[in-house]
Amino acid sequence: MKVNRRKFCEQAVTKVSVIALGSMGLLACADKKESSSSSEESTAVAPANDLDVDSCDDLSKVSAEEIKKRESLGYEETTPIPDKQCSSCNLYIPPKEGKSCGGCILFKGPVYEDAYCTYWAPQV
Ligand code: SF4
Repeated sequence: MKVNRRKFCEQAVTKVSVIALGSMGLLACADKKESSSSSEESTAVAPANDLDVDSCDDLSKVSAEEIKKRESLGYEETTPIPDKQCSSCNLYIPPKEGKSCGGCILFKGPVYEDAYCTYWAPQV
């Protein structure tokens, strides 16, 4: 059987195009699935001072990434500098009504009002 060169090339291009489009479609689906699962993760983490915890050192609902962040800022549960504590910091988020722990705008999770980190900033 003799194959026409032109027809063979047209069929090859068509098949390659179909395979390429199919692959791109699969990749797009995989990206969507990945980004939707990461957005689910980010919504699963409670806002800075909105955690329903008994103790401000309860980090069970805080992501490992946020715990790392607070550690990198030198967060300490009790301030080593008496006149520099979270409650007098400009970045502190006071506890919501009925809650015992505040928060910090730099990371998520509960914060003691007498805690401290190296990013302490005076209230203006
Ligand atoms: S920046 Fe540091 S000192 Fe200020 S509220 Fe946040 S953790 Fe506390």
